[in-house]
Amino acid sequence: MAARDTADSRLPHLRGSVTARVGRVVLSPAAATTIRDEAARSDDGNETGGLLLGHIEPTGTAQVRYAGGPGPAAVRRPAFFLRDLHHAQRVAADAFARDRSMWIGEWHTHPRAAPTPSDQDLRTYLGFLDDPELGLDAFITIILTSRTGAWDRPEAHAWICYRHAAEHVPLILAPHKHSAPADPNTPLPTTRTRP
Ligand SMILES: [Zn+2]
Repeated sequence: MAARDTADSRLPHLRGSVTARVGRVVLSPAAATTIRDEAARSDDGNETGGLLLGHIEPTGTAQVRYAGGPGPAAVRRPAFFLRDLHHAQRVAADAFARDRSMWIGEWHTHPRAAPTPSDQDLRTYLGFLDDPELGLDAFITIILTSRTGAWDRPEAHAWICYRHAAEHVPLILAPHKHSAPADPNTPLPTTRTRP
């Protein structure tokens, strides 16, 4: 499960907008690799997780371009996970600087529980959805489980959490593709603070 950050420890670069229901989640190869590698490192029986960063398209596809890991100061227990906030802030800022990816959700493992958001997970996400500063209408969550206890080949389930419901949606792995080199003349946004 994920625990709520305190009010004074908010992440920057969060404001998103959702205009349609989210029907599917597409993971970039980079995000999938991060999640797979971090999950494989969590075979100590404790939960792990991190941020999901990208965009929600008007068509209802959530494009996850980057994923974060737990960070060195994360609290990891068999049924509890609290990510390292400073690490998460850095991951979010890096993703935003690269291609304006936004914080659209989180992933975490359930070493012992079902691949569904727990009551505590849902309370955490409802807190995000109810926060007017975040401007979130939906929150993406990917929950990983392992039937065998070996985390090198986890099963992943995507959920879209709304204020009054959580929906299981298809999780799709985007194919690798060669991206064009970044235009060096395009200025990157350097600051984008919360209002
Ligand atoms: Zn959970």
